[in-house]
Amino acid sequence: MLQTSSASGERPGDIATMIANAMRRMGVVGLPRNYEIFYEVYTGSNGELAKDFAALKGHPTQDALDELAHRHFAQSSRQAIVETAQDQIALRAQEILALLGRERSSLEKFGVILNQTSNGLGSNADLSRDILRKIVGIMAAATETTIEQGRQISQAMADKSEELEKMRCKLEQYKRLADTDPLTRIWNRRAFDRKMARVFGDRRSIMFHALILADIDGFKTFNDRYGHPVGDRILQIVAHLLKTQGSTDCFVARTGGEEFAMIVEGLTEDATMAVAEATRATVEQAEFVIGSAARNYGPINVSLGVCMASDAADAEDLYAKADQALYASKVAGRNRVTLYSRLPKGSFTKNWLLYRSE
Ligand code: GH3
Ligand code: MG
Ligand code: MG
Repeated sequence: MLQTSSASGERPGDIATMIANAMRRMGVVGLPRNYEIFYEVYTGSNGELAKDFAALKGHPTQDALDELAHRHFAQSSRQAIVETAQDQIALRAQEILALLGRERSSLEKFGVILNQTSNGLGSNADLSRDILRKIVGIMAAATETTIEQGRQISQAMADKSEELEKMRCKLEQYKRLADTDPLTRIWNRRAFDRKMARVFGDRRSIMFHALILADIDGFKTFNDRYGHPVGDRILQIVAHLLKTQGSTDCFVARTGGEEFAMIVEGLTEDATMAVAEATRATVEQAEFVIGSAARNYGPINVSLGVCMASDAADAEDLYAKADQALYASKVAGRNRVTLYSRLPKGSFTKNWLLYRSE
């Protein structure tokens, strides 16, 4: 059974020794992020992490520890994992290069033997059967050794390539995790910012993109009434609804607490508005069935703001304008869609800034 204790009252040295001993006992490698996990567990400063750790029953594999790090630590440890994977790939690549070097030197040695033997044959016309048999013997042995070495090297190369491929897949997985919102499993703000920068990286692509922002109505009151865990399930269901309805070209991200963004591509203003309206209606009509009692917490509503990328100067401006349209939906009564270009100019700016700083 895992023993945890509060950090208060423990001297830092004691904790460090206790953690080092525990890691050694469980056969855990002394990586900084492993130490970080054990620190959180043994000081009792992260209850959720401690619970997940306890489920490993004192036999944590490195994969399981990496998984804990993704789940419970912020971006920085994901970054560390990506860097570790990159180091490992560089190492495997070096090993492959070394193998190739060995293959080359063994082929060169074989070439030297062949060369020397053929020189011997050329300069000596009267070779006895005995000498000839010896030469053939040497060549056969050299050929066999070279073939065997080649076989071993190609097996080692195949093993290394397989390892390399596994590392590459893992790295891809970690990169995907770094761009994923852990609660809803859709794209996070970091991935969204990158996508927006890409839209504005090419003048032609601006013509074909639009941004839809969606914000759940009255979510604070909902949380206060039913609690955060139910609120979290609502966020997951809304994210799923946004992701699975409508246009396939839609990039859906969670950009804030209860705020979502959809980047649509290749649609006219009317078609973009139709996507936004369909999204609003889908959420409004959905059932939010949660918990063993299968209670429906719906209806849940969202307000939306839409802006065409061609109406904005840059990514930041597009976000701000879609957000102003979203604000207009809120003040007009919520559960509706507003298009930025149809807003009366200048009428909303002041209030919008106040709303955003709330
Ligand atoms: P409005 O209709 O004006 O959008 O009202 P609102 O209550 O939705 O907006 P407000 O910005 O006042 O509150 C947002 C709430 O979202 C506050 C916070 O409790 C909740 N929230 C933010 N992130 C999370 C989360 O990860 N999980 C849960 N359960 N709630 C969250
Ligand atoms: Mg909000
Ligand atoms: Mg809200």
